Amino acid sequence: MVPGAVAGGWFGLHELNSATEATSGTNAVAAATFRRVVGLTMGRAYPGDDAGRNGPRRSGIISSSPATMRAGTARGAAGCSYLDRYGALDILSEPAGIIECMFDGSSAVLVERIAAAARAENQAAGQRLAVIGELDVMRLREVGERETWCTDTQEAVTAELAAALTTTQALAASYLYYSRAMRLRLPRVGALLRAGYIDYRMFQTIVYRTDLITDPDVMAAVDAQLAAKAARWPGMTQGRLAAQVDRIVARADGDALRRRRERQAGREVSIWDSGEGLTEIFGRLITTDAHAVDARLDALAATVCAGDPRTRNQRRADAMGALAAGADRLACRCARPDCPAGATPPPVPVVIHVIAEAASLDGTAATPASMIGADALIPAELIADLARSATLRPLVHPGDAPPEANYTPSQALADFVRCRDLTCRFPGCDRPARHCDLDHTIAYADGGPTHASNLTCLCRQHHLIKTFWGWHDHQLPDGTLIWTAPSGQTYITTPGSALLFPTLCVPTGQLAPPQPTPTGSRCADRAAMMPQRRRTRAQNRTARITAERKHNRQTRQAARSGPAPPDTDDEPPPF
Ligand SMILES: [Zn+2]
Ligand SMILES: [Zn+2]
Repeated sequence: MVPGAVAGGWFGLHELNSATEATSGTNAVAAATFRRVVGLTMGRAYPGDDAGRNGPRRSGIISSSPATMRAGTARGAAGCSYLDRYGALDILSEPAGIIECMFDGSSAVLVERIAAAARAENQAAGQRLAVIGELDVMRLREVGERETWCTDTQEAVTAELAAALTTTQALAASYLYYSRAMRLRLPRVGALLRAGYIDYRMFQTIVYRTDLITDPDVMAAVDAQLAAKAARWPGMTQGRLAAQVDRIVARADGDALRRRRERQAGREVSIWDSGEGLTEIFGRLITTDAHAVDARLDALAATVCAGDPRTRNQRRADAMGALAAGADRLACRCARPDCPAGATPPPVPVVIHVIAEAASLDGTAATPASMIGADALIPAELIADLARSATLRPLVHPGDAPPEANYTPSQALADFVRCRDLTCRFPGCDRPARHCDLDHTIAYADGGPTHASNLTCLCRQHHLIKTFWGWHDHQLPDGTLIWTAPSGQTYITTPGSALLFPTLCVPTGQLAPPQPTPTGSRCADRAAMMPQRRRTRAQNRTARITAERKHNRQTRQAARSGPAPPDTDDEPPPF
């Protein structure tokens, strides 16, 4: 138990409900809710909402005939249609053995080979930079930098590289830039790349995010810290990786935060007409505002019924107009007299969740805050500003609290798990925690308790992957998850707050292992529970290709002989 070690408050921009309940100094952590209403509730109510759009997110899993897919028991032809068509390997095209193969040792060999190939690719990328560095040093020794020359040594080496690699000058210049960064700024991180432990994309991100550090000692310390951590970061997506690097940089070099604050002054929204009835908008907003706009556009775009012909992007763009008009709905364009969109309530106001240390809220600490759903950090100065008008809600670390009785966790426990995890906990997924399911690591039905040590955030897609596709996870009391893939490989993911708010990852208590319950009894109904696609990927692809080909054909015919007669399922021409 860590009584009072973690406390704080939720806060929203509307009103300050309560002061932050910081209790024990530097460990105090607050979670904050910025309640920001972007749309106004006045004005004409547009018809429309679509309850179906708020339903479970459809998964990206290959749809297949119902079959039991539990480890060791699954057989039959489930999923074969895809693999039969595309699987050239005998091991995969054996119809009766596919699911079984996923769970025995043979797929582990393939996964090992895939990993080895990726590592060789990383090593080759590192080696390329290293040798470019040798050429660079050789030329510098021969002639110096010639920095006053219009085409200096850097330019000359770039030209040599572009010719040798058959690339553009820009790409060659980029290789040289990263080569110099590896040699001069980040030798330890560079060594990880050359050993194949990190990939080129991660190396590029680290170079870019550390570029503002000027002090060589700070640079060396950051290099060492990143090298110690980077290879152990599992499944980092680009945005999350950038945030992790930023956190290390922010702690090592306070100037980075000040520079950010200057950038804040440059926020703006500009609008210019680009012709043909379209106008472009560019904006640079405070992160919390930008994400509130983003969420509000999504919510408005979802207020039409399934018959609306517009794409999601088009509806989001149209939602900007509805937003400006103060509407809380988008007018549906299905043209059906019985459009169901008007029957459902308008979307609720957008709430932005931000986690901050209590000391950052009252402006006495420099620790940046983290917004659930955004990768970028929010500087402490800005958080102190925002906190004055936000609703604060205490975040309670459950300590050694006993499990809760119900399947659904209490609001306090759910808040804690979401703030601890920040994102979906599947390897490589960064879907924000507020859009995630709270998954019992050991299923509730199997005796798994409703307890912080047995709950994690999983997005719907990965919740389904875990449930149906042979993945298993084991949770430690500090929130660490150890995943076992269908092929037997293991992967570790740590909670998103581990780096910035380590106190949230203080262990929440060791749980007694649940009583083993007979397995297999629930297997039979599992496949029936998998949400079904309305249209398969193949159908979507066919429809897309058909529509585009038809458009091309009509354009071609129109060019030859005037407008083509409309097909019966087309809208009438606008004349
Ligand atoms: Zn409609
Ligand atoms: Zn996920």
